[in-house]
Amino acid sequence: MSPVTNLVGMTPAALEDLAVELGASRYRGRQIATWVYRKGVCDLEAMTDLPKEFRARLAEVAHLSLPAIERATPSQDGSRKLVLRLEDERRVSAVVMPDEGRVTLCVSTQVGCGYACAFCLTGTMGLDRNLTAAEIVGQVLAANALIGPGEERVTHIVFMGMGEPLANYAALADALRVLTDARLGLAYSPRRITVSTVGLVAGIDRLGRDGLRVNLAVSLHAATDEVRSRLMPVNRGWGLEALMAAVRRYPLAPRQRVFFEYVLLDGVNDSPDDARALARLLRGVRAKVNLIPFNDWPGAAFRRPPLPRILAFQGILLEAGVTTTVRWSKGEDIGAACGQLREPAVA
Ligand code: SF4
Repeated sequence: MSPVTNLVGMTPAALEDLAVELGASRYRGRQIATWVYRKGVCDLEAMTDLPKEFRARLAEVAHLSLPAIERATPSQDGSRKLVLRLEDERRVSAVVMPDEGRVTLCVSTQVGCGYACAFCLTGTMGLDRNLTAAEIVGQVLAANALIGPGEERVTHIVFMGMGEPLANYAALADALRVLTDARLGLAYSPRRITVSTVGLVAGIDRLGRDGLRVNLAVSLHAATDEVRSRLMPVNRGWGLEALMAAVRRYPLAPRQRVFFEYVLLDGVNDSPDDARALARLLRGVRAKVNLIPFNDWPGAAFRRPPLPRILAFQGILLEAGVTTTVRWSKGEDIGAACGQLREPAVA
């Protein structure tokens, strides 16, 4: 065991194993989980019900560390963009979005992203590295610590920040186990967690097989392979047929739906024909479509469609019986909206 092991992000079962490795009982591992995840305490010295010798032994092999909030920029719409500094000085973003009694946190899973979607600012960075489970769970703990007493804590988590969650599967799965463990973890209902993917078929299948029961969101952005491959290079490997087959295999609870994100780009994927093709593609799928009018960023090659075109697109889907909302992204004025998250990876 290396002294750099971060106890944050370890599943309760892994903490129990660690306690045994150090010659203590599994119960000690459960105590650590309770301190970190139930009480939000990340200081070994403060874990007063652990025997002193055990704490000293633990300190030799492990530590507790959260990403540091370097900046919290408020937006006019009430959301806050957090820039978090990691232990190696790299930076990622998370966004806190309060809305009608819920507080949604958008978290990152990688520094940068290697999928190079044509409309996405984050994609222009390329992939730097995967986040660890500690850094993923740490974003939630850090955001909750930032939210003041009397304010509502994070109620919902969306994996829609920097990076492709399913390309960092092992860390994502451990983070989800910690977030959803009702007894010793952060006790979020899986139904309040959404994992968004660019469409990695093998990852979707694995998430379904592992029984993590979270909501699945697919960044679709086009209803034909021709347009999608132009916008999203990943589609050249896994086309729409394979993607939709994986979506249909994904296990859903009664009344649970798959979310489809569709960024509307003026003159590219926003025609009535595109809307009809999308309705056909989703036939028979329990789907909810989120239309995202493009958020401009400097140097972008796309524009947001005019309002009547956006509403006409939505109208066609609604008429076809597809639940569809238009998501006017939060945090646009602070560069925190979908596809706009970019921080210098290193200071
Ligand atoms: S849209 Fe998502 S998958 Fe595509 S480049 Fe941006 S962060 Fe990566």
